[in-house]
Amino acid sequence: MKKENVGRRPQIPNRKSKIANRQLQIDNHTPLMNSRQAKIESERCLQCFDAPCMTACPTHIDVPKFISMIRTNNVIGAAEVVKVSNALANTCGKICPEEVFCQSVCTRGKQDSPIQIRELHFFATQREVKRGFSATRRFPASDKKIAVIGSGPAGLGCAFELTKLGHQVDVYDAHKPGGVPRKSIPSFRLAGRELESDTKFLSTFFKVKKQVVDSRTFQRIQREHDATFLAVGLGRDRMLGVAGEKLKGVLPVLQFLEKAKIAPSKMKVGKKVVIVGGGNVSLDAAATAKRLGAESVVLIYRRSEKEMRVWKGELAEARRQGVEIRFLINPVSVIGKSKVAGIKCRRTRLSKQKDKTGRLIPVEIKGSDFILDADTVVIAIGQTIEANWLGDLDRKGGGYVKVREDFQTSVPGVFAGGDMIAGEGTIVQSVSQGKYAARAIHEYLSAK
Ligand SMILES: Cc1cc2nc3c(=O)[nH]c(=O)nc-3n(C[C@H](O)[C@H](O)[C@H](O)COP(=O)(O)OP(=O)(O)OC[C@H]3O[C@@H](n4cnc5c(N)ncnc54)[C@H](O)[C@@H]3O)c2cc1C
Ligand code: SF4
Repeated sequence: MKKENVGRRPQIPNRKSKIANRQLQIDNHTPLMNSRQAKIESERCLQCFDAPCMTACPTHIDVPKFISMIRTNNVIGAAEVVKVSNALANTCGKICPEEVFCQSVCTRGKQDSPIQIRELHFFATQREVKRGFSATRRFPASDKKIAVIGSGPAGLGCAFELTKLGHQVDVYDAHKPGGVPRKSIPSFRLAGRELESDTKFLSTFFKVKKQVVDSRTFQRIQREHDATFLAVGLGRDRMLGVAGEKLKGVLPVLQFLEKAKIAPSKMKVGKKVVIVGGGNVSLDAAATAKRLGAESVVLIYRRSEKEMRVWKGELAEARRQGVEIRFLINPVSVIGKSKVAGIKCRRTRLSKQKDKTGRLIPVEIKGSDFILDADTVVIAIGQTIEANWLGDLDRKGGGYVKVREDFQTSVPGVFAGGDMIAGEGTIVQSVSQGKYAARAIHEYLSAK
C-alpha cells in the first residue's frame, strides 16, 4: 500500500489580502475599525428603504439606523440599536459570518463592494463596552415565570427577550453562560472578553443558575414554571464507526477544542495530525492543531471543495496557517497498536446523484487504499444532542427536536430552539430563534 507525504505545505495566500489582514487583526485582538474608518465606511451606506441587510440578519437588527447613527457620531445610540435586537451583540460583532447574512445582500455590493456591516456593528458595541453600559431600562413586570434550560446563544437570546416582555426568568446551565462560544470556539477567533461583556450586560436582566438538568430536574422545572424553553445545543460528537477509533490519540472534535481552549498549555498534540471533516468546526480544529505546534496538519474530506460547507474566510485562514486540505478521501480505519500510527484511507469520486443536503454523493474507488501517517486523529464530522432526558418530545431527522412554527415542541408549554432543533447553525440564528420563541411564549401565556 502506498504511503503519502503529509508534510507538503500548501500555497499561502498573499499576506496583503483583505482576509489575511483581517485575520491578523483578529489574532491581535484589536478592534477592527477606528473612528475615522468607521465614519468613512458608514458614509458609503445607501440607506435603502427596503433594507435587505435588515431582512437577511436573523435577529433583524435595524442596520441602516445604526449605520446612520455612526455617521452622525452617535456611536452609543448605534450600539443600543444593535443590542436591543441581538443579546450577543459583541460576540456576533466579532465572529458573525456576515458573508452569508447581512453583507451578502448589501445593495452597495452591486456598485463596488458591500458595506462592512459586521465591522461597523462591532465598532459600535465595542465603543459602548469601553464607555460602560447605559442604565438598564425597567420593563413592566408580569406574574409569569419561565424556565430556560441552557445558556448558550439560544437560551440567552430567549431569556433577554422574555425579561424585556416583563417575565421572570430562571436560566439553568451546567456551566458558566455562553455555550459553545465560551467552551469551544478557539480564543484566537473569539477572545473571552467579547462574550464576557455580553454576559455581564445580560446579568443585569437575569441570573444563570448552575444546574445539571436531568430527567428528574426537568420534570421539577416544568412543574415550577408556566413555560419552559429548551436550548441545550448539540453536545455529543458523531464518530466514524470505523475500526481503531478507540485508540489513544483519536479525539472527538468538541473534546479537543474544549481542552485546547481551557488549558492550552496542558494540551499536547502529536507532530502529524489528521483531521476528518469538511465543515467550519474541522477548520477550527485544524488551525488549533497548527497553533499547538503540530508539524503537519492534514484535513481530509470525502467530497470536493465545492461541496464544503465552510465560510470562505475560514478556509483561507486555515490554508494561511499551513493546513493541507485534501479532497475526495474517506477514512477506512485508524491503525496502530495501543495508540494511533496512521489512518487508512480510500479515494472517492462524486456520483451524479445528490443526497438530502443537495450535495453530490461520494462513492469509494476500489483498490485506491493508502495510509496517511498520523499520531493524532481528530474526528470532526458533526454533533448530535447529548441530553437523554428529553422524554417523549417528537424528533425529526438527525434526532433533532421537532418544533412547530411557534417553536413549541410536541409537549404543550415546552418550547425549544437553537442547534437542538435545526442542527449545526450559527450564533446569530440561535439568538434569533431564542428571541422569536420568547415572543411565542409570551403569546402562549397571554392566551391562557
Ligand atoms: C467549534 C465551533 C465553532 C463555531 N464557530 C462559529 C462562528 O464563528 N460563528 C457563528 O456564528 N457560529 C459558530 N459556531 C456555531 C455556534 O456556536 C452554535 O450554532 C451555537 O452556539 C448554538 O447555540 P445553542 O444555544 O443552540 O447551543 P450551545 O451553544 O451548545 O449551548 C447549549 C448550552 O446548554 C447547556 N447544557 C447542555 N446540556 C445541559 C444539561 N443537561 N443541563 C444544563 N445545561 C446544559 C450547555 O452547557 C450550553 O451552555 C461554531 C460552533 C462550533 C462547535
Ligand atoms: S448580527 Fe450578523 S447578520 Fe446581523 S447585522 Fe450583525 S453581522 Fe450582520
